[in-house]
This record gives sequence, C-alpha cells and structure tokens, in this order.
Amino acid sequence: MLSSSINSFINRTLSSNPTSLLRSNLRFFSSSIVDDSKLPDYKTSVNVADIKLSRPEKKEKPQVSKATNKDLTKVSKWRRKDLHGQTLISATLAEMEVDEDFKRTLQDLKTMGKKKMTLEERKNRRRALDEMGVPDFKDFVKMKQNEENQNVTPLTRSPTQILQLNVGLYCNQACGHCHVESSPRRKEMMSKETASACLSILKNSPSVTTLDITGGAPELQESFRYIVEEARRLRPDIDIIDRCNLTVIHEPGQEDLIEFLVEHKVHVIASLPCYSEKNVNQQRGSGVFDRSVSALLALNEEGYGVEGSGLVLDLVYNPLGAFLPPPQEALEEKYHEELNENFGITFNNLYTMTNMPVKRFADFLHRRGELNEYMELLVRNFNLDTTDNLMCTNTVSVGYDGKIYDCDFNNQLGFAIGSSKVFDEDAKNVSDVESLEELLNDGIQFDNHCYGCTAGMGSS
Ligand code: SF4
Ligand code: SF4
Repeated sequence: MLSSSINSFINRTLSSNPTSLLRSNLRFFSSSIVDDSKLPDYKTSVNVADIKLSRPEKKEKPQVSKATNKDLTKVSKWRRKDLHGQTLISATLAEMEVDEDFKRTLQDLKTMGKKKMTLEERKNRRRALDEMGVPDFKDFVKMKQNEENQNVTPLTRSPTQILQLNVGLYCNQACGHCHVESSPRRKEMMSKETASACLSILKNSPSVTTLDITGGAPELQESFRYIVEEARRLRPDIDIIDRCNLTVIHEPGQEDLIEFLVEHKVHVIASLPCYSEKNVNQQRGSGVFDRSVSALLALNEEGYGVEGSGLVLDLVYNPLGAFLPPPQEALEEKYHEELNENFGITFNNLYTMTNMPVKRFADFLHRRGELNEYMELLVRNFNLDTTDNLMCTNTVSVGYDGKIYDCDFNNQLGFAIGSSKVFDEDAKNVSDVESLEELLNDGIQFDNHCYGCTAGMGSS
C-alpha cells in the first residue's frame, strides 16, 4: 500500500499545527536556494477550482459526516454490486504487458538485479543533490536548524508507538507511483512464522499504540487475517490500521472482508488520489475509479466513515505527478464536498502525502529526465517543522521477510536497522528481538531519499 508507507502523517496531524507548518514553509520559500519565480509548488491535478464533475447546481454545504444525508439515487448508481468477486488482476496484468515503463523495469530487474538497481537509483539521487550543492540529509537538517537558530537536536529514535508490518508485495493493482513496486507479479509474502514473531513483539512492547498493516494489498496476503485476529486478542487497546487500496474489496474471496474489518474494529486508511475518474485511472489503472467508489460506498453501508459508528475511514491523497500535495485542510474540505455530492460518500479525514523519490516513481522520473528537478523541488520546499514528526522517530517497520527497518521506504531500499550494508542478509530480524525497546539505541538510517519526508507539509 502506498504506500502505503505513510505513517507519520498520523503523527503530523495529531501533534502539529498545520498553520504553523504552512507559515514555516512559506518562510522557507523566501530564503529558497533556487529561483523563487518558479513557485508555487503546490499545484495539483486535484484542482480545487478547475476540476469539477458535472452535477446540478449546489444548494448548500453538505453535512458530510452524516450517512442520513445520502442521496440514494446517486448511491445506487455507483454502488456496483455486480463488481463483487470480479478480479482486477487480469486487467492490471494486461496493462503491464503493454506499458513501456513496466516492461523496461522488468528488463532491468532481469539484467541488473534488485540490489544493483537500488544502488544506481541512490547514485542518481546523489548526483542530483551534488548538482545543487546540497549536502547529506542530516547535515542539511543541522544547517537549517542553525539558520533558524534552533537548538541542534539530533534526529533520534524514541520509544516505538507504531509497529508497521509490510505483510507482502502482492497487489491486484500496479500504480505508477508505487514505492514498493507492487503488482500481481510480486509473490513475496510474510509467513505465519514471521507473523507470529511480530505478534509476540507486539505483546511485549507496551509502548506500541498502533499496528499499521501495509503491503502490497495487505488483505491479499496469507497472514493478514491471522495478524488482525491475534493482534486484537493480544492488545484490545490498540489502533489496528489496514492500508486498503479499495479495489481489493471486490476481489474474489474478499466478499466478507468488510464484515471482518468491522468485527475487529480495524481502522481503514484508503488511497484515493483524486475524485476524478480520469486522474484515478491514470495513476492506478483502468477501472480503478469505479471500483474504488463502489468500495467506499460498501464501507459506508457497514458504518465506516459514518458519524457515531466508531469505524474510522480515512483517505489518502498523493499527487499524480512530480509536484507536492496542496495544503491538507483545503483539499480535505473539497474531497468531502465532491465525494458527498457526486457519489454520496462520507469519510473521516483526508491525509496528503508526497510521492517519495524511490523505486518505481524514481525510476519513472529518471527515465523522463525529471529526477533532478524533483529532487530540487523537495529540497527547495524543505520544512524544518516536519523534522519533529518524522515517522522513523517513533515507528518500527518490519518487512515480509521479518527484517527490521526505520520505515517502509528504508525497507524497500534495503537499509535495515543496525546495519551499514544494503540488503544485509544478516540484518536484525524479528526472530532476534523480544521487545522493541531493544532497538532504542539503534541509530536511524537517513539517506538522500529522506528529503521526500521533509518537503512542504511533510510526508511519511
Ligand atoms: S500497486 Fe498496490 S501497493 Fe502499490 S500503491 Fe498501488 S495499490 Fe498500493
Ligand atoms: S525516509 Fe528517511 S526521513 Fe522518512 S521516515 Fe524513512 S528514514 Fe525517516
């Protein structure tokens, strides 16, 4: 899932003041290291002013969180029960067959292998930063702290509050921005043995308040339901998150998925990069929009995103191209309005995320000659306030094979906790650890992709 991979936006939202973030970011614009005339950077294909679906004249602002306000005609049109049990996988595979980028990546994987490709990608980011004269991420943060007269505080790990599990890379979609390079071709999955070790750590780590399950499409991995059931039994107090791509709800074998999520009070965080069909299908594949809307309505029917139900349905927006997300609050308001008016959908919160310059997205940018420009955009929009809430300072992320990382991005890049080698076979594994407290003294592995977490409003 977007990736997945997106935890500290929760921290950010809970513990920071978005207005101050924005102010600080605007302040940074004025001391930017590149030409300010290129601004603004907050353009988005989800254009609050321009992208509208045709609909009757708006009468008044909708009461977005009340299911009773649904227009049942709209709901019945978009609630596609005929899609239940109809897989998206064949369409995804057919698109991958003809897409030049996917074909090229597959070829590179065959000839170079994952490790060499990852090192090459890292070198490309470094080259882009060198061209701008930008130092290592940690040095850059120190420099900015000095400029802002802040105490230079090292970026260190605090007790783990979020345990993130990437339970496997298999997915029914193959999105263009996917930082884990998921698709129906990826078969890597967490075994039950590894899942048990993760659950044992969860039990022994009282500081953890959130279990964040991601993938791939986590629900399609063999350990997903086992993890949810056991985690709820062992730790009834915690928030269990399912990073849901929505279309999975219609996949064969998932007919009872929503019922299962309701029963275990799972918090659903779902990806929806736009409220326009064209934009969603462009980023996530043909047919994804209709299925996503239908899935959201199915979730609403069971109480998700409905006031008073206790069932939380949050949405995630990420840009459709090489630009930063717009300010979260305004976009959330627009999402509520558009989704409710056009489809009768309600939800709780919208979170915005920056596309990380890693894996499939980095690859695409590099091939198009846009990686340098994107890195420059990230550096230009560095926001010191985001460094208080980086996901890696209070999260531990576990890969499908049990290896332990600071975040899902480091997982995909092979930077395991406590190891200086990339893709270190001997790096720490969940079977070596009893409680997450044992990791407190391991430093965080920052590298040149981390600028993606500190641009604009932050993202990770
Ligand atoms: S390919 Fe799958 S895991 Fe990757 S972003 Fe799309 S839905 Fe999420
Ligand atoms: S990418 Fe870097 S800054 Fe972002 S969460 Fe991971 S380690 Fe932290």
